[in-house]
Parts: sequence; C-alpha cells; structure tokens
Amino acid sequence: MDKTYRKIIYLAFPPGRSSQPLVCNLARNYDLTFNILKAQINPRQEGFMTLEISGSEESFRQGTDYLKEQGVRVTPVAQKISRDEDSCMHCGLCTSLCTTGALCVDKGSRRVLFDAERCSACGMCVKVCPVKAMDVDLENGILQ
Ligand code: SF4
Ligand code: SF4
Repeated sequence: MDKTYRKIIYLAFPPGRSSQPLVCNLARNYDLTFNILKAQINPRQEGFMTLEISGSEESFRQGTDYLKEQGVRVTPVAQKISRDEDSCMHCGLCTSLCTTGALCVDKGSRRVLFDAERCSACGMCVKVCPVKAMDVDLENGILQ
C-alpha cells in the first residue's frame, strides 16, 4: 500500500457528535494512520481536532468523505495559515519553536522558509513573531 500521502487537517465536529469513534473508524475502515496533534472535545459543544493523517491518497479521500458525511467540517491546515511575506524580516525567532519544520532557515540564503503543508497550526509562531507576520485562522480553542 502507498503510505506516502500525508496531510494535516483540521476537524470541526458538530455538537453532540463524539469525535473519537469517527476518527478511529479512519484507521479501522479506511486503513489510515492518524496522530492527534491537538483536540478540544466537549460532548455538548462543537469540538475541534488537528489530525495528521497518512495512508494512500485514495484512502485519504474516502476517509475524509466519510467524516464529511457525518457532519464534520474538514479543512486542510495549510489553508488556515499564512505568512505576510512583506512583513517577515527573517529574524528566525519562530524557527526554534516550530516543531514540524514548517518554518526553517535556508542555510544558503539565511532566509526563513515557510512550508504550510507541514504546519500543525500550533500557533507558537503567531505568539512570538515580533511583527505579526504569521496568521493562523482557526476557531475557538486551537491557539490555547
Ligand atoms: S518570527 Fe516573524 S519575522 Fe521572524 S522569521 Fe518568523 S515570521 Fe518572520
Ligand atoms: S503554527 Fe507556526 S510554529 Fe506551529 S507548526 Fe505552524 S508554522 Fe510551525
């Protein structure tokens, strides 16, 4: 099986839906591997989860279609984070806090590179950036 496909997605669960069986079904029924990076779940309120998923691209599509059929909003995290290229002064402060490698220093140019596909939306770069160049557009709780 092709295990090379990997994505970090952001899930919003409607109130009253327990997220855990839905997420476990990704592994059980769609042969996907998942790693919960962040979760805020309350059975009576909307729940949020950031999930790293790997598996085949087809399994990923089927698994996320399944979640959507259950009423879960599925958003690639890469669509939720951006950097203001004009503001960033490539100070490198954010790179020491970015555990996923989404922000890293290019050894040649000494500029800070940003790869949104690797971002887990932890929000650390938003907190430390002195010029507020990083923006994470996530819902309640994800930046706590
Ligand atoms: S902390 Fe802000 S200004 Fe510094 S490299 Fe990171 S994004 Fe750019
Ligand atoms: S939010 Fe910032 S620090 Fe966190 S993974 Fe994404 S780029 Fe790295």
